[in-house]
Amino acid sequence: MFRSKKPYGISVETSKTASEYCNTNLTTTEKILKHITIAAIAGIISFSTLSASTALADNRNTKDLHSSKVTNEVVNESIQILSTDSFKDPISEMMEEEKRAAEEKAFLDSIEIIAKDYSDTEELKEALIKMSKEFDISNITLTAAFEKVDEMASIPDSAPVAGLITSKFGYRTDPFSGRQAFHCGLDIQNEFDSDVCATAYGTVIFADYYGGYGNYVQVDHGNGIVTCYGHLNTFKCKVGDIVSVGTPIGTMGQTGQATGVHVHYEVCVDGEKVDPLEYISDLSEMTFLE
Ligand SMILES: [Zn+2]
Repeated sequence: MFRSKKPYGISVETSKTASEYCNTNLTTTEKILKHITIAAIAGIISFSTLSASTALADNRNTKDLHSSKVTNEVVNESIQILSTDSFKDPISEMMEEEKRAAEEKAFLDSIEIIAKDYSDTEELKEALIKMSKEFDISNITLTAAFEKVDEMASIPDSAPVAGLITSKFGYRTDPFSGRQAFHCGLDIQNEFDSDVCATAYGTVIFADYYGGYGNYVQVDHGNGIVTCYGHLNTFKCKVGDIVSVGTPIGTMGQTGQATGVHVHYEVCVDGEKVDPLEYISDLSEMTFLE
């Protein structure tokens, strides 16, 4: 009953038998050893701890040869189980698992740094596949890495066009009414008909004339994030198109209610319009009026 080949799978029956066996003619040392032995079989303590305990028991039990014999039988049986090829020292196994988990976490954490060398999501994924093979990264972690890449590609962290920011997000004097009004986007001015580009990976969900916005495009990036581009002169996309950062979606114009040539750019998160400037990571190609 003690020769279980599965140290982790010690059954209640085996424990019970071990317990019954050990409780016959036990000295205190043997009672302690019984617990240590069962703990070792169950993978709670290590093989080396059990060996040290055996040595201690031998030393203490020299006065009672019968009892010592019983103890040693229990322990030796357990050592045999622990020494089988199928048994892995649980402490080493745990450390190996922890090391692997740390390596996989480092792999995921490094994606943002690696991504800086790739402008194309598919190329980045190819590079990650190569790395995963090189460093023996699991498929589960690779899938998590791909999800992270997609998520990163869907965050609108670039500007739709370089240029002069003529009006920021927030309260301003409305150029038409002359009253204080909330401006829910970012106005960027550049040459008439210059390309206006998607600011992240996503799907075009609107591309049509829309009241004061004039020719207007909306791109859905997933995770509740939508970007909007107004006053376009022409469209370079249609509903359903998949776009990436830098894909032209139209050209700059003055359609709808606009005082000059510019793109009115909005970022919506969960239906709420937020300041696009807080998303744009590189402002080096932007200039400001004030
Ligand atoms: Zn505007």
